[in-house]
Amino acid sequence: MGANEVIADLRELAKLTSTADGAQRLAWGPVWREARQWFAGKLAPLGVTTEVDAAGNSWATLKGASERTVIIGSHLDSVPNGGWLDGALGVMVGLEALRMFRGQTPPVTIKVVDWADEEGARFGRSLLGSSAAAGSLQVSDVEALTDKTGVKLIDALRENGVELSRMHEARRFLKAIDAKAYLELHIEQGPVLESMNKSTGIVLGTFGVERHLLRFVGQAAHSGSTPIPMRRDAFLAAAESALAFREIAITHTTPTARVVCTAGTVKVEPGIVTAVPGACEISLDQRALDADVLAKMLAEARAASWTIAAKNNVSVEWKRIWQIEPRPFDPKLIALCAEAVKDVTGDAPHLPSGPLHDAAEMVPHMPVVMMFAYSSNGLSHCKEEDTPEPHLLKTIEAFLLLVKKVVAA
Ligand SMILES: [Zn+2]
Repeated sequence: MGANEVIADLRELAKLTSTADGAQRLAWGPVWREARQWFAGKLAPLGVTTEVDAAGNSWATLKGASERTVIIGSHLDSVPNGGWLDGALGVMVGLEALRMFRGQTPPVTIKVVDWADEEGARFGRSLLGSSAAAGSLQVSDVEALTDKTGVKLIDALRENGVELSRMHEARRFLKAIDAKAYLELHIEQGPVLESMNKSTGIVLGTFGVERHLLRFVGQAAHSGSTPIPMRRDAFLAAAESALAFREIAITHTTPTARVVCTAGTVKVEPGIVTAVPGACEISLDQRALDADVLAKMLAEARAASWTIAAKNNVSVEWKRIWQIEPRPFDPKLIALCAEAVKDVTGDAPHLPSGPLHDAAEMVPHMPVVMMFAYSSNGLSHCKEEDTPEPHLLKTIEAFLLLVKKVVAA
């Protein structure tokens, strides 16, 4: 019963849909369909109604005394060679929540949703199904997408009974639900809980992201003949800026609010060992849970790059590649989540989520909270992904307790 049952289901699903290299439930493909069919078989004896919305999201509903609805969501799809817990954990614990209320009429309605194509591993667009339901999907952004074998997204969707041009109707489906709360359990996919040796974490929200390309331009010159004080070295200005960006992130990190920044790419021109770099392009990805902090980090990074560029006698230009605002979760649900985690594990560590999740798409529409499970070595999206069983059992128990608390609240 309970947590052991969830682990047994997870192992069964892994066995059915994995190879020696890991989980193979790539969205819109045959193994994913098999996983969904297997899941439907698990739901069948529970007396719940099931339906698929216009975006391919699969919903199971246990009618309660009221129309007010607690939604438990996650995703069955995986990356190629993925782990056994990413996504599947959140769906299986939803199944167990339905079993928990089997044969009863809970005070509120309970829905479990398996979002379609959370990973975006095949067509490059993450959160596809949940963004359609949230109304944030732009069809024009995705209609030209193809996978690496040349299959068009529109055709892969059609193969699964989903029409791209009608996906936005999933918004109406979600809107019709009188949502009291959205709950999601996910593996952390990072090293924070492990570093504290904590089974379970309360998630404060998903990070906002500012992602930019910076181009420094100086003057390419001969490496032997150009004295150092006379150089206009674009790489050194970029490198010095990257170090300054790290300092900015460290300055804004407090014991309760961690922020991050990464200069993940660097391109040097002309890229010759005997030439002073005349141009250099680096990326900057900054993340924080607090919108004001993120704005400050960006402003400080810009100012630092201008000062450093001037000092090195080069120019710098910024180009935004992508941005998303932070999505903080609901304070009341965070408090209930903390109660549940504390009851089961004796502690209640809070942390933000670096990766995005379907839960982030729900934030503008209803109160949301997520719970994280300990992630061994911080690894995910690989076959080594794991939560040691004692930690996993506690986390599942805590989540089921949270469901009970939210249903009764
Ligand atoms: Zn996931």
